[in-house]
Amino acid sequence: MIQVSTPSVTQTFRRTKMICTIGPASENPDCIRGLIREGMNVARINFSHCKYDEALARLKMLREARAELGVPLAIMLDTKGPEVRMFGYSRPVLLAQGDTLYIESTDRQPDQVAELPPEDRRFYTNLPRINKLCRIGSRVLLQDGFIEAEVTQLHEAFPGAVSVRVLNEGRLKDKAHLAVPGADYPIPFMSDKDRADIRFAVENNFEYIALSFVRTARDIGDVRELIKSVDPASGIRLIAKIEDKQALANIYDIIRDSDGIMIARGDLGIEVPIEELPGLQKNIIKRCYLAGKPVIVATQMLESMTDKPYPTRAEVTDIANAVLELTSAVMLSGETANGAHPERVANMMGRIIDRTEAGIDYRTLARITHDYVERDNITNIMAYSSVDTAHDWNAKAIAVVTASGIGARALSKFRPIIPIYAFTHHEQVCHQMALNWGVAPFLIENPDGQRFSDAAKRIMDLLKKKGFMANGDKLVFMASSPFGKGRPTNTMRCEVVGDNAFHDET
Ligand code: PGA
Ligand code: MN
Repeated sequence: MIQVSTPSVTQTFRRTKMICTIGPASENPDCIRGLIREGMNVARINFSHCKYDEALARLKMLREARAELGVPLAIMLDTKGPEVRMFGYSRPVLLAQGDTLYIESTDRQPDQVAELPPEDRRFYTNLPRINKLCRIGSRVLLQDGFIEAEVTQLHEAFPGAVSVRVLNEGRLKDKAHLAVPGADYPIPFMSDKDRADIRFAVENNFEYIALSFVRTARDIGDVRELIKSVDPASGIRLIAKIEDKQALANIYDIIRDSDGIMIARGDLGIEVPIEELPGLQKNIIKRCYLAGKPVIVATQMLESMTDKPYPTRAEVTDIANAVLELTSAVMLSGETANGAHPERVANMMGRIIDRTEAGIDYRTLARITHDYVERDNITNIMAYSSVDTAHDWNAKAIAVVTASGIGARALSKFRPIIPIYAFTHHEQVCHQMALNWGVAPFLIENPDGQRFSDAAKRIMDLLKKKGFMANGDKLVFMASSPFGKGRPTNTMRCEVVGDNAFHDET
């Protein structure tokens, strides 16, 4: 056994995972160690605002911290994606209600256009033919949705432009985000920068890439092709960020073809009416866990704690609600990347998760998910049986030996009340499983060629040594035996720790 993982025995077992974004406020070894102690399972680096040398420095710190503390920690690169921006000004522009703005399409980059006098109220956007995407009366949202405007005129002459009337005052910051809610933006899913960033993620062995603004399953296929061209053996996993209407329209296919979903409430709340977010969140979470895919609830979960020491009551309830909906993970963005006290925020999130989980009747929930066992998939059938057996038998935990993580994810799907201890000999898989609901990953030596009984005995000894199990505790094992043969799951075995049952098998 090479390395052991969270949870530490002194901590209550936490099922819902925590993602922290690493940025200027948290990119130092002390803070990273602090976040890990507070329960960070995944560290996210946002490539909307990050250069390669900064990313490499963060990567090194994260790897050193997880090795030093002996914990699994997935590292996730989040792509910039196809962003629609407004530019042509170098200083913030104050807009008043009733102002008319002229916004012209351009294929030039922000640094290639001349600065326009702010009093002219003329701007550029990288959205091609903006006049074709709008009608008179269409809403246009500026500055992350904070400034609302209405289209008053369409200018057809090439390259196309619109005039809009500002409905509420506000301040346009540098390269403000622009949205025409619900429009299908004619911008390619991957820019040259995104391609370079994906290549960087593969070459540097990140555990996950979160893909901004995935719109179709085809987008995911394109990324998989690119990854294959960089490293055919790459095990990097892809999280599709759901941020607009098109992604919602294709949600089933996107869930099927991705390795997980992020409900990116920031952009989604601009692209769809904001009051639709709670219902969408609930539905997407359910579809994901029934499909056995991890799902992340993201954005503004503890936004007010970016500078304040305490959250709002609504934020506390938001996190608790996501936990009650059985999300795999909740995410912190600016709160830990640029906030005043990243560790305090992570601690607060952890406390809310623990308290909420303590009130959930997971046994009853697992009986409901039983109806969703795919009857043609033996790993799924055995996973449900293992969870059911463990619940009925009052087992302390379920242990799964899994080279790829498939067995652990199948167990996670049924949201058992007890920990899923997942043992793999692939380091990347070990860190990846840190994202999966209820899974505590461990790195072990390659069990190929070992007998099932020998491997199981070692696992029980390890769990005992580390204080996760004691003599008399019941443990349900799941595996495919013999190891290393690529067989689907075929073994479930119930053991009482300390009974030495395996000694009889020579
Ligand atoms: P972002 O994605 O933080 O990269 O924009 C999340 C969101 O849109 O909510
Ligand atoms: Mn986004």
